[in-house]
Amino acid sequence: MTNAFGVHALVWTGGWEPEQAEFAISRTAAAGYDLIEIPALDPSAIDVDDTRARLEVHGLAATMTLGLTFATDINSEDAALVAAGRDTLMSALQVARGVGATHLGGVIFSAMDKYPGPGTAAARANSVAVIKELAQESARSGITITLEFVNRYESNLLNTVQQTLDYMDDVDEDNVVVHADVYHMNIEERGFRTPLLLAGDRLGYVHIGESNRGYLGQGTIDFEEVFGALADMNYEGPITFESFSSAVVDQHLSNTLAVWRNLWEDSMDLGTHAREFMASGMENARATVGSR
Ligand code: MN
Repeated sequence: MTNAFGVHALVWTGGWEPEQAEFAISRTAAAGYDLIEIPALDPSAIDVDDTRARLEVHGLAATMTLGLTFATDINSEDAALVAAGRDTLMSALQVARGVGATHLGGVIFSAMDKYPGPGTAAARANSVAVIKELAQESARSGITITLEFVNRYESNLLNTVQQTLDYMDDVDEDNVVVHADVYHMNIEERGFRTPLLLAGDRLGYVHIGESNRGYLGQGTIDFEEVFGALADMNYEGPITFESFSSAVVDQHLSNTLAVWRNLWEDSMDLGTHAREFMASGMENARATVGSR
């Protein structure tokens, strides 16, 4: 009973040229992680064979995440935007398959941006239809689709566990899972334990991040509650660390996530600290469950 621990590549580098991929992958392995989460906002920027080979050399698994944009928004009533978003997701799936990723997800159900108004039923239906198609195609390669519900400033469609479960009911495909990020939950949910237990065995991916997205333990997230809930529900899926600082910048992602200030400089210190924080947090929580 243990989880695979991962780290988002933006802890190390803001691009994916071969030398940047090597840096991120080698540092992820050196910091003791099992997997690296590779952002694929522009799937065509990833050299599939190069990345796959480097992952093999360093013995790392990979997952892939992205956020759609208003130009590729499947949560829209505009058929051209929906088609553009579908193309982006299918390209990302090809790249995920090529590098050997186990999971593909993120804010793939809508644009990752601040919407000017609430969503519509017709836009949501378009999103559901594309994700259903993506899930069916992904299932052929054994890839799990993760739906990362996010805070209200980054999507108008899925902001809570309950909304994500309702959406998943409509998608109705077995390889689609809830992707919970405690940074977003901290803004939108009433706590951590109740919504995580609500997701139950439909929870399949977890992002661990602080309330200010910096060092774990230096913000206001109640990690004892988070790890306690995950241990109680015997969550066995990946747990991935996310942190963002102006020290490492990706033009698309950093601006979308409003990364305006410097929360850390030393990626290796941050990454090794987070690995230990998550592993010991889960170990202690599981020991508490076991001793009951
Ligand atoms: Mn996240």
